[in-house]
Amino acid sequence: MPGGQSMSTIVLRGGRVIDPDYGIDQMLDVLVVDGRILSVGESVAKGTGVDRDYDVTGLIVTPGWIDAHVHLRDPGFTYKEDLQSGAKAALAGGFTRMCCMPNTDPPLDSAAAISDIVDRGEQTGVHIHPIGTISMSRAGLEISPIEAMAAAGAIGFSDDGDSTKSEDVMREALRLSSRLNLPIMVHCEDPELARGGSMHRGVVSEELGDPGIPAEAEDSYTARDIRLAEETGGWLHVLHVSTVRGAQLVKDAKQRGARVTAEVMPHHLTLTDEWVAGRRRFAGQQQISDLGRIDPNAKVNPPLRSEQDALGLMDYVLDGTFDFIATDHAPQAERDKPAILTEAASGMTGLELAIPTMALLIKMGRIDWPLVVRLFTSAPARSLNLNGGALEAGHAADITVIDPAKSWTVTAASLHSRSKNTPLLGMTLEGRAVLTLVSGEVRHDELS
Ligand SMILES: [Zn+2]
Repeated sequence: MPGGQSMSTIVLRGGRVIDPDYGIDQMLDVLVVDGRILSVGESVAKGTGVDRDYDVTGLIVTPGWIDAHVHLRDPGFTYKEDLQSGAKAALAGGFTRMCCMPNTDPPLDSAAAISDIVDRGEQTGVHIHPIGTISMSRAGLEISPIEAMAAAGAIGFSDDGDSTKSEDVMREALRLSSRLNLPIMVHCEDPELARGGSMHRGVVSEELGDPGIPAEAEDSYTARDIRLAEETGGWLHVLHVSTVRGAQLVKDAKQRGARVTAEVMPHHLTLTDEWVAGRRRFAGQQQISDLGRIDPNAKVNPPLRSEQDALGLMDYVLDGTFDFIATDHAPQAERDKPAILTEAASGMTGLELAIPTMALLIKMGRIDWPLVVRLFTSAPARSLNLNGGALEAGHAADITVIDPAKSWTVTAASLHSRSKNTPLLGMTLEGRAVLTLVSGEVRHDELS
């Protein structure tokens, strides 16, 4: 880097700066010196002493994006992803900070396992925060050493992938959540009601001969976990809400004063169960392209639901029921995704598709950039008490620059994640992170 690590100056000139915490949405210059934001303001003088001078006219400059829900598959499933490949996907997708789920092998259910992610995460160039399990081995029966994991750096606790079976374990975890001020992050799905299903139960599952996962499987456990949160006064965070009914349960709980937060995923706002049948039509749009076969990459848990759900969830984004948006980046190798629905693993990659998916919703007029930026930056940072999320003078420069109109085709080669499992494969989308700075270092650059 010109000027060296110890003295470097970067200018981002003429971009539309959106910084929700400071209420900024205007054309400004951002000046980064020695890894820190020096100023966000009127034109920075051109000239000597500037190592990198980026003209970002027409582009959007935001605080570094935060993905509060990813699966990095490390340790144990590194043929799908590892911390390094996940970090590359994050940077290419505009993310500078992410929280990773503990369904690894072994699972993150000890202080040592948490410390390992913290230590190795620091080598990746992206801020990585581990989430510990709620129960030992994620088996749902015996509580994990939550306090020790918190001390080691866990930012929350989750048995994501499964609901936590024992109500006693849930109660104890929720009590600890208040004391530690860290969330219990729940995957809500009744295993009995969901049994045997590979997709949302509805007309498409009937057509494909799949037993289906009814919306009720999710909603009944969302209701259970909210009840336990209200009983204990604990902090419940409802992961990946996919049904309108589930969103309404969260809204009602918030109105009653329960300490409940919730997130929604870009894919649940845009895709429907039709995608499992290979019929690619974004919710609310007319145009269809038909693969003419089922698409195992559209199998995800919770499943892609009805168009009514996909469209309805946006109302709960706009009214603040959802505290933030996260991707549930869930890489799966090709061999984990055979074209037989019952045998295909659940999950889709998300880190590199969040920006184009949100850009699509913006283009459809359903949300705007300032809100999208808030839901991926300051909102997760403030909700989960993470650093970052704002362009704060004197603080480490985590910055994302987005080209909202840049067109690109989703292919195995264009994705940086080790896994390529997305139903958007082959589609040409608009919107891309073109520059990603972490702690003032340029980690992804499509401008130079
Ligand atoms: Zn997940």
